[in-house]
Amino acid sequence: MALELIKNPSLAERTSLNLGGTAEVEVVLRDARDLDELGNFLATHALRPFVIGEGSNLLAPDEHLDMALIRAATPPGPERVEKVDNKMIVRCGAAQRLPGLLGWAQMAGLSGMEGLTGIPGSVGGAVAMNAGSYGTEFGDVITRVRLWSPMQGLVWVDVSRCVFGYRHFSCTVTAGKALIWEVEIALTESSPKAVRSVMKDVYDKKKSTQPVTAKTAGCVFKNPVGHSAGMLLDEAGMKGVRLGGMAFSDIHANFLVNLGGGSSAHALELLEMGKIAVLENSGITLETEVILL
Ligand SMILES: Cc1cc2nc3c(=O)[nH]c(=O)nc-3n(C[C@H](O)[C@H](O)[C@H](O)COP(=O)(O)OP(=O)(O)OC[C@H]3O[C@@H](n4cnc5c(N)ncnc54)[C@H](O)[C@@H]3O)c2cc1C
Repeated sequence: MALELIKNPSLAERTSLNLGGTAEVEVVLRDARDLDELGNFLATHALRPFVIGEGSNLLAPDEHLDMALIRAATPPGPERVEKVDNKMIVRCGAAQRLPGLLGWAQMAGLSGMEGLTGIPGSVGGAVAMNAGSYGTEFGDVITRVRLWSPMQGLVWVDVSRCVFGYRHFSCTVTAGKALIWEVEIALTESSPKAVRSVMKDVYDKKKSTQPVTAKTAGCVFKNPVGHSAGMLLDEAGMKGVRLGGMAFSDIHANFLVNLGGGSSAHALELLEMGKIAVLENSGITLETEVILL
């Protein structure tokens, strides 16, 4: 079957910041059989490939990009696989939404991911970013990841061959960045009520400290060791600072918000202003967490 190709996909429509121009094409992968076709496509088109999840950690420029977005459209799972050493192994497709996986685990009474409540995006994005909050990182529960690359095809990679760090994932098996296709995680059996109670606490805490319903990409800078980037930006006077339709949130300074009609040019300028202000105020260089396309 021929690949599904979307010409000139809008990046603003595909990112939670609602910013960006267009890419050259989006390749939609409906199932694993499309991966061979994807290999052929990438070999015959001189376009920069970029795997896109739910776009909740991306800042795309206002211009057109000579890029092929690759999106896995079918979200198989989550499903129970087997019980190993008192843990329930759950398999889930990368295109599944992370909140959907958390909701499923809650209903099934499976514990281990409650700290990730409130993080949007896909399961693939959560692996690639090792998404985390309140002391839980997605990498903590992963047992193996199924990766695809043009050279190696689809391979299951054990967690022992993966490197999970602060907003970092890589693996020693595939050369370069691979497409994350599926993941297996190990969860502890608990009760739906107990899991829901922790998830509610986490969400209530986030709601009171973060602009959870605004157009954002979450935290735009990584926390430097021993510091909170939000606090550093606040101390440097950046909380609430606005440029055009973009601003550092007045609820949490590390969240860049599109107030409406924002542009990437303004977003990038604000990021630079924030970096300079923090460097001058505290001598610390901030590193971006949001992926700049
Ligand atoms: C309101 C809000 C709150 C947030 N809170 C948090 C938080 O508490 N903690 C946190 O860590 N993050 C947080 N984020 C950021 C974001 O939600 C996470 O980084 C999320 O895991 C990104 O998933 P995504 O599917 O949107 O990925 P995208 O934004 O689409 O992509 C992010 C990166 O992942 C890669 N990627 C995506 N899918 C795949 C795949 N299948 N294979 C290979 N690579 C892939 C992309 O190439 C890109 O490099 C927040 C964002 C928002 C908007």
